[in-house]
Amino acid sequence: MFEHLDAPMQDPILSLTVAFREDPRPEKIDLGIGVYRNSEGITPIMEAVRTAAIELAETQVTKSYVGLAGDEQFNRAMTDLLLADTAAYSRAAAIQTPGASGALRMLADLIAYSRPGATVWISNPSYVNHRPVMEAAGLTVREYTYFNTETKAVDEDAMLAQIESLGEQDVLLLHGCCHNPTGGDISIESWQRIAELTHERGFLPFVDIAYQGFGDGLMEDAAGLRVLADSVPELVIATSCSKNFGLYRERTGAAIVVGQTPEDSLKAKGHIQRMARATYTMPPDHGAALVSMILNREELKANWMKELASMNQRINGLREQLVVGFREASDSDRFDYFGEHRGMFSVTGLSPAQIEQLKQNHAIYVVSGGRVNVAGLTEKDIPQVVKAFLAVGA
Ligand code: PMP
Repeated sequence: MFEHLDAPMQDPILSLTVAFREDPRPEKIDLGIGVYRNSEGITPIMEAVRTAAIELAETQVTKSYVGLAGDEQFNRAMTDLLLADTAAYSRAAAIQTPGASGALRMLADLIAYSRPGATVWISNPSYVNHRPVMEAAGLTVREYTYFNTETKAVDEDAMLAQIESLGEQDVLLLHGCCHNPTGGDISIESWQRIAELTHERGFLPFVDIAYQGFGDGLMEDAAGLRVLADSVPELVIATSCSKNFGLYRERTGAAIVVGQTPEDSLKAKGHIQRMARATYTMPPDHGAALVSMILNREELKANWMKELASMNQRINGLREQLVVGFREASDSDRFDYFGEHRGMFSVTGLSPAQIEQLKQNHAIYVVSGGRVNVAGLTEKDIPQVVKAFLAVGA
């Protein structure tokens, strides 16, 4: 049955993690996989999550099935977090999914079912799994111009010019905030222009927001999405609790559909449930039960928001320290982009040869393509990273 299979491609990020783990050098630094780390280099369990988990263990009375849509209280809370007080709110229907990955796939399946032959436009570059997920659902994928590798900022004019040519068979996949991998986000004016173009051209906006609260704040990071939600007739959203609740392995996320009417959204949700039934049937409960408890309890929610804000400040603080460290060591402002980018990642423009030298000579692990995980650094790593980057000619 399987003898004719070719060797599968290794996931470049996960294989880098293995190589890092096996490296015996004590000074090694992992800038690869996208997890947040605190100043001790640990990806912590958030305090509100731990409190909720203890209470859940003591009070939960059954592990019986929940339902195809998962925890409806969780679904409402996730919709509130993104869409409260927008025009879209009353038309939105949400379904709990295994992470944002599950949401991406379910929404892709929904689009393929509802609009066979649709083309999904993703940014160049984009999250490494966007193309595989969309293609696995049978959708055609094309790329829109996004990042200017010279300025290390988004080329918003070129991006918008391309979006002007989209039509009703097209889906525009946007990163809600903290663009992965580049760290470059679009301005609120561009979100407004995209909302206008949605009306003019009839494409479907699809927002993937996996880092709400890791950029400029919980509400601030949803500002662009909320511009769309106030204006466009239809919208789909994939959201995640992996980063902002630190629930990575619990696989907690949601797919939200905003149709032209609440009835349309409910129909779409029903189809997602049907498609989920044929794949994983039901999402795992634990993470969503914790999030639901946290978001529906004032004290726990306040505690979570406080800790999230401090993680956010830490990331932006590390960005500032990189800017200062590079300015001092290189006598130039060419690394200032670290301070302009938002979220966990920045694309550095490092060549494959420089990435290899960083690994071989400096025990610093960077994924191919040159993305670095700023949120994986600790303060004491910064001088070593600055020195090594300059030594390889960055
Ligand atoms: N979308 C983007 C943009 C991501 O970076 C990621 C990975 N963190 C995901 C979706 C998938 O997230 P999850 O772990 O919740 O499935």
